[in-house]
Amino acid sequence: MQVTRYIERYGFRRWYERQLIESHAYLALAFVALILLLSGVELLSDGEAGVRRMIVVLAAAAGGMLMVVSWRRFTTLLARAEHFGEAATCPKCKAWGKFRVLAQESSNENDPPEAGRPHWLSVRCKKCEAVWKLQ
Ligand SMILES: [Zn+2]
Repeated sequence: MQVTRYIERYGFRRWYERQLIESHAYLALAFVALILLLSGVELLSDGEAGVRRMIVVLAAAAGGMLMVVSWRRFTTLLARAEHFGEAATCPKCKAWGKFRVLAQESSNENDPPEAGRPHWLSVRCKKCEAVWKLQ
């Protein structure tokens, strides 16, 4: 679900909480993948040849790839959540995370999904109607 649509439906606090949970799930997955990678490297030192060795090499490579992808996803989600979380305080009444989204940066098709779109949100405070930008 798009960031702005999720925030409109469930609120910023819930979006922020979900981003933290999801990013840490990716961190746990990266750790498991690292264990798979290291286990494969350890088994390779046994010196066996043949099909079993090929399976171990493939499993270790898959673990390495999964670890890199999971780690990148973890850092991207966490960075975006922290980035928006730091700017979510109303400049006028200091309410945190209580706003409606007015606009967002138009997405560019050339941006990769890991870019953490949108890069900014224009928001209005639910308490005092102040308008500011999360960027
Ligand atoms: Zn306010």
